Amino acid sequence: MQSMVAGVVWPPLLSGEGAPLAALTHQLQQTQWLPADDIVVRQHQQLVMLAQHSEIHSVYFRDRMRAAGMRAGQLSTREDLRRLPVMRRRDVQAAGEALFCAQIPRAHAPIAESSTSGSSGEPVVVKRTAVSRLMWLAMTLREHLWQQRDFRGRLAVIRDDYLQSEQADWPTWGPPASLLFQTGPSHALAVRTGVARQFEWLQSINPNYLLVYPSNLAALLIEFEQHGVRLPRLQQIRTINETLTAGIRESARRVLGADIADTYSSAEVGVIAVQCPDSALYHVMAEGMIVEILNERDEPCAPGEVGRVVVTDLHNFATPLIRYELGDYAETSGPCPCGRGLPALRRIVGRRRNMVRLPDGRSLWPAIGGLRYREIAPIRQFQFIQRELETIEVRLVSRVPLSADQERRIGELIRKALDFSFNLQFVYFAEQIPRGPGGKFEEFVCELA
Ligand SMILES: [Zn+2]
Repeated sequence: MQSMVAGVVWPPLLSGEGAPLAALTHQLQQTQWLPADDIVVRQHQQLVMLAQHSEIHSVYFRDRMRAAGMRAGQLSTREDLRRLPVMRRRDVQAAGEALFCAQIPRAHAPIAESSTSGSSGEPVVVKRTAVSRLMWLAMTLREHLWQQRDFRGRLAVIRDDYLQSEQADWPTWGPPASLLFQTGPSHALAVRTGVARQFEWLQSINPNYLLVYPSNLAALLIEFEQHGVRLPRLQQIRTINETLTAGIRESARRVLGADIADTYSSAEVGVIAVQCPDSALYHVMAEGMIVEILNERDEPCAPGEVGRVVVTDLHNFATPLIRYELGDYAETSGPCPCGRGLPALRRIVGRRRNMVRLPDGRSLWPAIGGLRYREIAPIRQFQFIQRELETIEVRLVSRVPLSADQERRIGELIRKALDFSFNLQFVYFAEQIPRGPGGKFEEFVCELA
């Protein structure tokens, strides 16, 4: 850490935004080792504080509690919290201003608005506080520290959500790392610039760390593999914003010799889960939120089951997101072998609209990512859109059109993977398939209501 007080280098003295961040980070280094049951007790103490505030200042939350026949003080256990019906994105949209708290404690100011990309429809707008921002900074910093990153390294970032221009260069990594440490430079490029430009740019930057969306990384890996080049300084890849598949992890290791550290977050609640430094699991950031994984009957999933992600943000006193269903699905896990008391998830699976609907009524997670398309034809990117119950549009990026035989063989792979003989409509793109709002890309999208 670098000192911020003139004349003092050791031990470093901090001031400004860095000081509470350092203090919170120090506490999180202790709380991660608390027994799981102790964490639950503390979460609910915090939840009662939030609910008591929200009951007074949020009309929507007050009505919701009244409809459930509950008072804030009754949210003191996991079982009690489950009596409150889950709230969905459309509920947030319908509630409008009534959801927001009319007042927040002075120490939580200022408020900032955060908006989801709206990849599953209309965007959701959430007000977040200075405390929400501090929690976001602390969880992001925790991820850096768990991964033992060398902050002196050079960071390359390819994303879209906050970049005004196509390209930017900064002398530091930016918050949270730069608030407490001396860091190397960072360089950003917009994802919309396309893979060929990104490939050239990355070689000129020659980064130690790369932050990128999984789908964009997949396209870059094909480029690197075809040219037979690597990034000689690259130590690790960080992925955000989309679902990361095992296939992309494997090919990053093979093509660039780098491991991936994935972060699961959302615009509404910030960092939800990050990868354990000692196992392949994701740890829930339980000091900041309660995460439930629920089955179709709204009961908690057993370890190994996939269910809906429902979050309770414990520190947002401007927008009470209590039992809020994000629209994502995740697989639960038992305790992590590392010994941390933070709950664990095995993987983040995707959104409901990423499931294929079969004519027999079943919905499945489509096993399309690992298919060996490239053994049949030079396909650089793919996306499937289920337009009707029996019809799927197959979008492919290929510089040369496929022959009828190649289409037939790829069609066979797809029908087998999806467990139904769908009508397939092939559509070709020369460079890349357009991304959705917020730069998000989904491999499979079901458009059926
Ligand atoms: Zn762990």
